[in-house]
Amino acid sequence: MSDVARSTIAFEGQFARYFPEMAVPWRADEAPEPRLVALNRPLAVELGFDPDFLSSPEGVRLLIGNAVPEAATPVAQAYSGHQFGWYSPRLGDGRALLLGEISGADGKLRDIHLKGSGRTPFARNGDGRAVVGPMLREYIVSEAMHALNIPTTRSLAVVRTGSQVQRERLLPGAVLTRVASSHVRVGSFQYARAGNDLGLLRRLADHAIERHHPSSDREPNRYLGLLQDVVSVQATLVAQWMLVGFVHGVMNTDNMTVSGETIDYGPCAFMEGFDPGAVYSSIDETGRYAYRNQPLVAEWNLARFAESLAPLIHEDEEQAVSLAVESLKGFREQYSAAWFAGMKAKLGLPERIDDDVASPLVDNLLVLVQEARADYTSFFRVLGKAARGQAEPARGMILDLAAFDAWLDRWRTLKPDADAMDRVNPIYIPRNHLVEEALAAATEGDVVPSERLLEAIFDPYKERPGLEKFAAPAPESFGPYRTFCGT
Ligand code: AMP
Ligand code: MG
Repeated sequence: MSDVARSTIAFEGQFARYFPEMAVPWRADEAPEPRLVALNRPLAVELGFDPDFLSSPEGVRLLIGNAVPEAATPVAQAYSGHQFGWYSPRLGDGRALLLGEISGADGKLRDIHLKGSGRTPFARNGDGRAVVGPMLREYIVSEAMHALNIPTTRSLAVVRTGSQVQRERLLPGAVLTRVASSHVRVGSFQYARAGNDLGLLRRLADHAIERHHPSSDREPNRYLGLLQDVVSVQATLVAQWMLVGFVHGVMNTDNMTVSGETIDYGPCAFMEGFDPGAVYSSIDETGRYAYRNQPLVAEWNLARFAESLAPLIHEDEEQAVSLAVESLKGFREQYSAAWFAGMKAKLGLPERIDDDVASPLVDNLLVLVQEARADYTSFFRVLGKAARGQAEPARGMILDLAAFDAWLDRWRTLKPDADAMDRVNPIYIPRNHLVEEALAAATEGDVVPSERLLEAIFDPYKERPGLEKFAAPAPESFGPYRTFCGT
């Protein structure tokens, strides 16, 4: 038996077997000289892998799909999607492969997926490649999101392939090994719907219910139940993004999961100075995916999901639409409730406080923070100090001090809980200038800066000496931040 077969857990090819119409068996390109850039040892252990094996030459080959375990059927998945509002009937994994699913210790199936593994039949004009910088960005930001308790795909490893890839200049190629509770996207449903194959659509919906939303069955109409459950997980997900100042950057329908995990970290960023119009993607010229638009876009994407499900919801089109519209209304309600509960927690206020009291308090504060363009993350963190009687650091970040002092008086009468605030307001997030520094160093072969950054963000709420650099906003010299998509 080969090392790969012996040292790893069993891979299943569920998606490949259940959905041959949406899965093209394919192999990853052979990497000439694979070398680890990052390995997530705790995640490896959680999944049942031996991290020492994964660091070995044979383990690294497994991580990039060059050594394929027995019983695994790597496939490129087909999906459609609305990109910046425009529908593409055939997107699919152009440079990615689903290696297969594995069962974790908790009995849940998880996808092991590769990004940057070479051209597939869905590659269109793309080269099928990825490079170290963007793959490491996904690794760092997804792991930061996980540490912030936000549902997300995880990152198991980044491996440098040894090939050079043409971008704005030649850059080292890389493969990201991603772990997800599945890669079923809104775009997967759009694909199944577009083919007018009701059997396929039903199988996909049944699979999503079984794998992610078994409680959908509570509804007499289980497909309506599925719609409601996906609306629900996306409403709370996007509320959590907003609460930490995360901007996804490419909320296309193919980048929205049915599981409710954040997926496909491209030109994403954490906002620094509070600006509801913040956009970081170089290709998002109209600001479609700006910070403040994210809830609206999520709702729009869910309407595309509902359209795809419609024939399952009711055979009469009009009735299907009216049922779907009713369920979609749940988005605003649930988003607002989740966001507002999160804001109360950020302010150290108990859940039971009357909305009539808490709501103007939240609104007034955000006006002051926005007017000063205060660093979003630091501001909420130092507000915890204000709850302990040291208001100066927070006052130092606001312009209209008279209004802020009056605000502080109102807030303090509600007895905010400073310790509770520190448990929800992170001190360490992946700050854009530090992410860029880490990616640039790793591109040149130095992984120390990314390792340091990861140490800080793995434990985002606990202030630790020596990590001051990771808590500070970017210096002025860093300038306006832009990241690039599709690289
Ligand atoms: P993304 O913006 O990463 O979500 O990708 C959108 C679509 O473009 C997906 O179908 C990807 O597989 C495809 N794609 C992105 N980059 C490449 C590339 N370098 N080569 C082939 N396909 C790509
Ligand atoms: Mg994508």
